[in-house]
Amino acid sequence: MYHLKCIECGAEYPKDELIYTCSKCDGLLDVIYDYSSIKLDMEKLKSECPSVWKYAKLLPVDREPVTIKEGGTPLYKCERLAEKIGIKALYVKHEGMNPTGSFKDRGMTVGVSKALELGMKTVACASTGNTSAALAIYGAKAGIPVVVLLPEGKVALGKVAQALMHGAKVLSIRGNFDDALALVRTLCSQEKIYLLNSINPFRLEGQKTIGFEIADQLGFKVPDRVVLPVGNAGNITAIHKGFREFKKLGVTDAIPKMTGIQAEGSCPIVKAIKSGAENIKPEKNPETVATAIRIGNPVNARKALLAIRKSEGTAESVSDEEIIEAQKDLARLEGIGVEPASATSVAGLKKLVDSGVVRRDETVVCITTGHLLKDPEEVIKICEPPIVVDAKIEAIREAIFGN
Ligand SMILES: *Cc1c(COP(=O)(O)O)cnc(C)c1O
Ligand SMILES: [Zn+2]
Repeated sequence: MYHLKCIECGAEYPKDELIYTCSKCDGLLDVIYDYSSIKLDMEKLKSECPSVWKYAKLLPVDREPVTIKEGGTPLYKCERLAEKIGIKALYVKHEGMNPTGSFKDRGMTVGVSKALELGMKTVACASTGNTSAALAIYGAKAGIPVVVLLPEGKVALGKVAQALMHGAKVLSIRGNFDDALALVRTLCSQEKIYLLNSINPFRLEGQKTIGFEIADQLGFKVPDRVVLPVGNAGNITAIHKGFREFKKLGVTDAIPKMTGIQAEGSCPIVKAIKSGAENIKPEKNPETVATAIRIGNPVNARKALLAIRKSEGTAESVSDEEIIEAQKDLARLEGIGVEPASATSVAGLKKLVDSGVVRRDETVVCITTGHLLKDPEEVIKICEPPIVVDAKIEAIREAIFGN
């Protein structure tokens, strides 16, 4: 039992109405459940391994899901990284371990299942890369056509490869992500094509399972704080909702401080949080090495600002240099390979600990959103190249040990 509700004016809509924003005020929509009718079996919750569909009672899908076994990603205790940052207890939830290598799979297993349930025959999205990879794979599994709009020249190679290989129709737009999103929204309003960007409230329902899993993996306790990269700002909103629901249902007894990190060249949410503004000011030309969060006009800004403020969290920006350093630290201190956007969580935590905003005795979970192999070109740019040597033992000895 669930329906849609506008977060601005409170207007309500039935669950099968084909809308993405409020038809009265254009506000964002949220999925509202009748929590009194939802009974979670704690024994079952404690015995089953985490996965998106483990929490099906809290997901808005009324049919067999389109699934390729998403979620259930590892939560690593990171002692060496914690020591470097100077914090007592640090965990990393590595969402790069999902089927396509990013958390977008959690949203798309729900979103594409919903598309079939609503009788939609084609699905589409604009994407900085990972959304298109995830939509391509779930569309393939469901057997329906996929259209993706990408900003030309600004999508990491691994992501384009996935969208192409899984059979999506890939359009490279001469414009940035915000342009691509505006275009795909128009397309989906003109044709019977289902829009699966994070403005779609059902997609975010899948992503809230990150919050469920963190609590689950910590023995149904929550950390003091969750730190994650913010682009279109859907994920921080979704995870906050997951924690709120577990608390409402008595599974846990607290909500972590939601802490969003953006890149300096692309940080409208950070500016709004720091200035206390009601809404963001869109940025025209966002730029950062972290292409997954190169977004100047995040569509879920209003939801994200609420999530950050209600949970008493915060937001911070980091430079590309800080992002690359954190990416190397994750890789070399903990064996966690991530794409640049993902490393903003760790870079941001370090900055917030150094400045005293985050206390050193907090228990913190950083989310790494996407896998290292998504963006091999960036890695080649920032690492020393391989050493070319003759196929002779002397040459190899010299390269390893010097003279
Ligand atoms: C999509 C994505 C983000 C941003 O998530 P939002 O929900 O848009 O804020 C961050 N990192 C990676 C790797 C992503 O793919
Ligand atoms: Zn409204």
